[in-house]
Amino acid sequence: MDFTLSSEQSAYRDKVRSFARKHVAPLAARWDEEETFPREILPLLGDAGLLGVTVPRAWGGQGLDLFHLVLAIEEIARYDGSLALALAAHHSIVCGHLLLSGTEAQKDSWLPRLTGGAVGAWALAEGQAGSDASSIKTEARSTEAVWSLWGSKMFVTQAPLADIFIVLAMTGGGARHNGISAFLVEAGAAGLRIGKPLHKMGCRATETAPVGLHGVEVGSEALLGELNGGFRDAMRLLDVGRVVMGAMAVGLARGCLEEATSFARKRRQFGRPIGQHQAIGWMLADMATETDAARLLVHRAAAGIGQGRVKTREAAMAKLFAAETASRVANKAVQVHGGYGYLRSSPVERYLRDVKLCEIGEGTSEVQRLVIGRDILKG
Ligand SMILES: Cc1cc2nc3c(=O)[nH]c(=O)nc-3n(C[C@H](O)[C@H](O)[C@H](O)COP(=O)(O)OP(=O)(O)OC[C@H]3O[C@@H](n4cnc5c(N)ncnc54)[C@H](O)[C@@H]3O)c2cc1C
Repeated sequence: MDFTLSSEQSAYRDKVRSFARKHVAPLAARWDEEETFPREILPLLGDAGLLGVTVPRAWGGQGLDLFHLVLAIEEIARYDGSLALALAAHHSIVCGHLLLSGTEAQKDSWLPRLTGGAVGAWALAEGQAGSDASSIKTEARSTEAVWSLWGSKMFVTQAPLADIFIVLAMTGGGARHNGISAFLVEAGAAGLRIGKPLHKMGCRATETAPVGLHGVEVGSEALLGELNGGFRDAMRLLDVGRVVMGAMAVGLARGCLEEATSFARKRRQFGRPIGQHQAIGWMLADMATETDAARLLVHRAAAGIGQGRVKTREAAMAKLFAAETASRVANKAVQVHGGYGYLRSSPVERYLRDVKLCEIGEGTSEVQRLVIGRDILKG
């Protein structure tokens, strides 16, 4: 067992770290303030291979494994939770769904565009269907070779700028888990209505909006995966999605630790740097210890999935622990900064707002505990 990165993995991480320092760190606060996704970053991300980390080279991707994606997401989240969230969704549920269930024609059509700067959005949640995702009401009605989609989706990340939507809808009459299918819907389709972006607490440079489907018609070639197999596929995607969101939490926690350490060295009270007051030193010690533990869980889950061992329990544990750790660490980082951490100009103020999403998206912490508890009892 070796807990260190290989030289190739370290070099990859360092490359993404340089990208994040150069292109993300200086602008992240402004993007958050403007509450709009910085579209101008897409060509830069594409050139750096960050729009197709896990997409095979044949479709314009890098052909790397989940472990590399986790390294990349931590580096981006170190400076910006919003961009990390956008990239996490892009890889795990948009490109990931196409790779898992797409036909060759669907992959040929969409993956080169997505790795080249097109934006995708994935729509499962609805107003009354969040944690209980199989209770969605959006319906796909079939008439000859045409599917007609009716319903409304909530919290769709990047909907206002998306070129392609993956929409989960009921196709199996009353069946829930075995009666949901996924459909590809192109932006601009008649009957597709994108609501106003929601004003969020954090990750404000992602654009999240409700989406209405008023008789949107798609052909049979738009069915993504097996008929009535959409919910099963979505649950498989969640294993990856949870690990990737765990990496986002680790990146934000590391950002908090680094900012708090730097502040604790510089800020002087009672004649010495505050880091030399034991209470502050202990806070930094706890922050560092918990962040390392979270990273180890995320890396274990990513390596397991990458080696083909799908471990739902390990993915849920990684996400749960990393998300709750990062929230605690962010809270402490603000405390270390005192009043300066409470100002909008402080990066840790933004990280504290961004990190809360990690306890909600891709399944809340309560849902992770349900998943882990059930798995333990199953034996
Ligand atoms: C910024 C953002 C981006 C998102 N992006 C997307 C996206 O791109 N696509 C998409 O489909 N969805 C997206 N979501 C939706 C997200 O997946 C849901 O918000 C999440 O699954 C929780 O659902 P909910 O908000 O309806 O809360 P609810 O499910 O209503 O939960 C409310 C509370 O009840 C708890 N709870 C619920 N059931 C149980 C239970 N059985 N036992 C114990 N506690 C329980 C929850 O843990 C939570 O604390 C996004 C959400 C946000 C905030």
